[in-house]
Amino acid sequence: MQAATNVSPEEIARFGKLAARWWDPDGESRPLHDLNPVRASYVADRVNLRDARVADVGCGGGLLSEALAKAGAHVTGIDLGEKVIEIARLHMHESRLENPSLDIDYRVQSSAELAAAEPESFDAVCCMELIEHVPDPAALVGDLVRMVKPGGLVVMSTLNRTPAAFGAAILGAEYIMRMLPRGTHHYAQFLKPSELGRLMRHAGLEVDDVSGLGYNPLNRKAWLSRVTAVNYLISARKPA
Ligand code: SAH
Repeated sequence: MQAATNVSPEEIARFGKLAARWWDPDGESRPLHDLNPVRASYVADRVNLRDARVADVGCGGGLLSEALAKAGAHVTGIDLGEKVIEIARLHMHESRLENPSLDIDYRVQSSAELAAAEPESFDAVCCMELIEHVPDPAALVGDLVRMVKPGGLVVMSTLNRTPAAFGAAILGAEYIMRMLPRGTHHYAQFLKPSELGRLMRHAGLEVDDVSGLGYNPLNRKAWLSRVTAVNYLISARKPA
């Protein structure tokens, strides 16, 4: 395995500390738990998941990977965090007691390695809440484009770079509600939808939707919205 370059080791260590509690809906991954059904159905609305090959890049403990696999997809979940991958595998084994057909291949692998090993192999590629943590966002988008099949779907989600996102994700979640450890997010690395859209188009994708991901941490409700000021989803296709 080549050493991965597009990664901050501090980021991997930070998420590694959260690994053991990843599947606790009241733990630090609580916002991801609450957002997960909405983003899973956003993907399911755009691609027929039954027997689709799907990559989940930066899969963490596997919240989205499992949701997609439950809908019938064959999922490859990659992350550079060994601890989070270990937890993802453990949880999959537990979930298989109820759902024996769950098919997820979790790997400690970089996006560049997966793209090189399996180019144009996936019907859909998901990359949620990762791009704001990598040193070179354009390189990550390039990897996603290489691994998706022509005609395939790429869905990403991330935090916008607005005062509202600063207020919600950093001040609110890290400082006031203390849901997330301080230092989880770096405002300067957040991307506006226009900037992420441009990166995707420059990499050869056709962006077909940007939707806001609304979230109320008090009642834990999440919904799709026209307001992209905090968190948003972006969907694109690789031309066939
Ligand atoms: N996509 C998941 C997890 C988001 S948390 C979800 O939305 O539910 C961010 C994840 O990205 C963590 O699991 C962390 O280990 C991983 N990560 C951070 N930098 C990375 C990099 N450069 N390459 C791959 N994974 C990375």
